[in-house]
Amino acid sequence: MSLKLYNTMSRSLEEFHPVANNHVRMYTCGPTVYDHAHIGNFRAYMFEDLLRRYLKYCGYEVTHVMNLTDVDDKTIRACIAEDLPLKEYTSTYIKAFFEDLDRLGIERAEHYPAATDHIPEMIELIEKLQEKGFAYQSEDGSVYFSIGKFKDYGKLSHLDLSGMQSGARVAQDEYEKDNAADFALWKAWDEKDGDVAWDSPWGRGRPGWHIECSAMSMRYLGETFDIHMGGVDNMFPHHEDEIAQSECATGKMFAKYWLHCAHLIVDGKKMSKSLNNFYTLRDILDKGYSGREIRFVLISTHYRQPLNFTFEVLDSARASLARLDEFIRRLKELASENATPEDLPAWARKAEDGFKAGLDNDLNISGAFAAVFDMVTAGNRAMDSAEVTGDSARAILTLLHSWDSALGILEPPPDEADEETLRMVEMRQQARRNKDWGEADRLRDELAARGWVVKDTPEGPKLRRS
Ligand SMILES: [Zn+2]
Repeated sequence: MSLKLYNTMSRSLEEFHPVANNHVRMYTCGPTVYDHAHIGNFRAYMFEDLLRRYLKYCGYEVTHVMNLTDVDDKTIRACIAEDLPLKEYTSTYIKAFFEDLDRLGIERAEHYPAATDHIPEMIELIEKLQEKGFAYQSEDGSVYFSIGKFKDYGKLSHLDLSGMQSGARVAQDEYEKDNAADFALWKAWDEKDGDVAWDSPWGRGRPGWHIECSAMSMRYLGETFDIHMGGVDNMFPHHEDEIAQSECATGKMFAKYWLHCAHLIVDGKKMSKSLNNFYTLRDILDKGYSGREIRFVLISTHYRQPLNFTFEVLDSARASLARLDEFIRRLKELASENATPEDLPAWARKAEDGFKAGLDNDLNISGAFAAVFDMVTAGNRAMDSAEVTGDSARAILTLLHSWDSALGILEPPPDEADEETLRMVEMRQQARRNKDWGEADRLRDELAARGWVVKDTPEGPKLRRS
């Protein structure tokens, strides 16, 4: 079996073969840092994390670039509303974004280029497009890409351009398919931009959103790279425009595989502030759920299926993780120091095949989790009847550890308590409420023995590693 991925470009499952040997170069459209990212954004970053981790699990070397959009229509509007310089405004949200990634156990990419640090590359790319006749300057000084000059325009989103008015222009970064038109590469300064502007051959102004990704992806990954990813709402116009700019400038294929992640909905409805079902990651953490539980929910639905986020699903994630933690605890109690893969019992070997077959099939996460939880069931039964040797237990722990390099969910992160520990903290709270100081002290000692210090604060008990 080898890895197959669904390529949006061909609308079909394709066997994955990198452009260059064993090295996978991949690009993700990163956050627009004008606000905290919401859980729908993190759904896309989670799927990209799974792909990145699984490619490494399969033995590929990975170079992953995720850009930070720190100048566009939205960031400019927001910094002017707050009366802050653009960089100062966006730096708060960049910092928050990395904290959120860590809470969710999302691995760091190799590069996080910020748009404002790559303006010269963007200008160079626009100049090249103008020289080749794909771009023109309008009366107000802005530079537009002429979609009529690129015969493949619309190939990713399967646009029908027959009814399109030639020469129609759109200045905004975001627009709908029915408004497909020449789009802005460089936007001449106007008073709505405040003091956000750079010098260019076309006068003071700023780049359009789409050119940012073309310039930064090619800067770090070369003119042709393997995988371009993003949420499905980025397919048009953003990715379509990236393809047009990049392929017209270089005359080469831009990205070989295009992967798109479906939407996240909440309680069956589109997430929106007006429906009061709009959540940032921080909102969910504040309700007492852990980053690991949220990760479990975001990763558990196949990336091309809409994910219906509910608190019931979060609660069942908590129960599934508790089951896993208990299984791992039992194994650790039994495990010897060393073992080899030959020590794996037959039921664990079968699970290993299922795990790989699942993820090889376009990251079919349900197949992979079925393999994990079938093994938990079989393993618990075998341990109940004392059929698991110390070497087998060690071999299973090693297997789980290697799977977790791809899933990032099976073992609790080092600074996050497992379910059993959290339960003990709760029991200790109960004992304190009942003024049962002996029991509270006993639980404190037991937590200390597990490597946790519990500190009582006005907001309740806080745990940290000892
Ligand atoms: Zn992008």
